Amino acid sequence: MEKINIFAHMQEMETQLEGMRNTLADWKQTVKELMEANQQLSLENEQLRRILKREAPLEVEQRLAETQTQLPSGEGQGEVVGEGYDNLARLYHEGFHICNVYFGHLRTEGDCLFCLSFLNK
Ligand SMILES: [Zn+2]
Repeated sequence: MEKINIFAHMQEMETQLEGMRNTLADWKQTVKELMEANQQLSLENEQLRRILKREAPLEVEQRLAETQTQLPSGEGQGEVVGEGYDNLARLYHEGFHICNVYFGHLRTEGDCLFCLSFLNK
């Protein structure tokens, strides 16, 4: 009776360990995929920032400054005019975010309200 209980218990533990090993394997795979995606996004981000800096250096500095200081939108953005504005508008229509929130990322889900409100100023 006692022996049977012990064996049943060990059997149960073995099953649990097997399950944990499978879960750990899944997590390792997920982390690996996330790290690869992160690496790819970092490279893409770096490349896009280089392009933006070349296309609209003043706007990039202004955007970065705003991102760092977390200014509420609607303040201090009235002077975006002329060539810089055209460059940003073109980048937006080429599929990139130009808003504070996702600046420099590819737009993957159609129009962005943050970008549009910036363009409509
Ligand atoms: Zn956006």
